[in-house]
Amino acid sequence: MLDKETLVAWDKRYLWHPFTQMQDWLTEDVVIIERGEGCYLIDTAGNRYIDGTASMWTNVHGHNHPELNTALKAQLDKISHTTLLGYSNIPAIQLAQKLVEITPAGLNKVFYSDNGSTAVEIALKMAYQYWQHKGEPQRKLFIHFDNAYHGDTIGAMSVGGIDSFHTTFDSLLFKGIRVSAPETYRSTRYTDTSGNNTNVKTRWLNAVEAALSENAGQVAGIILEPLIQGAGGMLVAPKGFLKALAVLAKRWETLLIVDEVMTGFGRTGKMWACEHEDVTPDILCTAKGLAAGYLPLAATLTTDDIYNAFLGEYRDLKTFFHGHTFTGNPLACAVALENIAIFERENLISQLQPTLEHFRNRLQDFYALPHVGDVRVCGFAAGVELMKNPDTHTPYPFEEKVGIRVCKEALARGAMLRPLVNTIVLMPPLQISISTVDTLLDIAYSSIAVITER
Ligand SMILES: *Cc1c(COP(=O)(O)O)cnc(C)c1O
Repeated sequence: MLDKETLVAWDKRYLWHPFTQMQDWLTEDVVIIERGEGCYLIDTAGNRYIDGTASMWTNVHGHNHPELNTALKAQLDKISHTTLLGYSNIPAIQLAQKLVEITPAGLNKVFYSDNGSTAVEIALKMAYQYWQHKGEPQRKLFIHFDNAYHGDTIGAMSVGGIDSFHTTFDSLLFKGIRVSAPETYRSTRYTDTSGNNTNVKTRWLNAVEAALSENAGQVAGIILEPLIQGAGGMLVAPKGFLKALAVLAKRWETLLIVDEVMTGFGRTGKMWACEHEDVTPDILCTAKGLAAGYLPLAATLTTDDIYNAFLGEYRDLKTFFHGHTFTGNPLACAVALENIAIFERENLISQLQPTLEHFRNRLQDFYALPHVGDVRVCGFAAGVELMKNPDTHTPYPFEEKVGIRVCKEALARGAMLRPLVNTIVLMPPLQISISTVDTLLDIAYSSIAVITER
């Protein structure tokens, strides 16, 4: 095996890391992960770190999981890849059946791809073409939101709302209707006794309704991340917002597309975020946790109504002309099947609840730190927003890299985190124990204290 020095040298010589200023990277030490064990990542020197962001929000049951490994190896001994273009394969069929069974009733068809961005591209193209088949080709616009993140491909960016990622590419993006969101900072703290934040919710819904009315008959769909916007900073939507949006979409006869790429597979405390508000969307996208964080796999699920609109004679060209080479990859589908089997065997969603409760309660302690402005939590997804002055709502200047410095401190203390600017993200694998939650939060807490009170 190569020694660490060579690995670091080769990394810096040959790799270009995602979302990374490589000029900084080149001057810094590189942690190289060699193995994983449950919720821990182990580097080439044998140091152990809690995987505090579930390896970019993907890991569900922990790393190197015996049953997932067995399922993967069993499929490996049969076949690794075969195409869904013109043929079928066993795990892809079984997984489609299972996904239809476990997603909200009404989602009956599964279209595979291999990452969250493509799941979203597929949703957008499906919705767009659907309206052409329905004789309403003027429905071309998508309503989307400030701070939304749906992926990095051009279509997914077009419905995004994070200026620092998307503005550079503005002239490449297609036109839509971006609805601004009301300020949600601290809104979760100032809720009424039922946990509602009516004011924020009403203002937001009014903005959506205004957009629907101004563009009546031209809206192809509304796309959102249900309950919580992830990459935008772990922004939790007011209770009831998703449900009310679903009602609006129905009333204005447009499609509701939910991007459950982050929220799916138990992340919010239920299997799907949609379940919290009893919503069946017209299209649902899933990816990150679908194959338990083992392999790239995504799916876009939809209704019979949408699927049926694409049926017709071959010569009519109503076909959905879209597909990726590795669509329905058998290895990934086999792991995803075992992922779901573990949820069922262990009754995981209900088993998780005490840990979630503990996680939520302990996060409230962070308000004791003078530079913690807001603590947002939705199931096992949390963001702790740091502020130079929380009272005057003064953020830390971007160039101070406070978030990055906190995460560096946490690394030295044994937890791997990644910030969203000045929001510290805490998103461990679902199968984390209460005592490991405590260790993770202790590390995050002391790292924030050390860096912000220096
Ligand atoms: C991560 C993410 C995506 C993009 O997924 P990739 O697999 O990185 O392309 C899309 N939507 C949401 C909500 C995400 O969190």
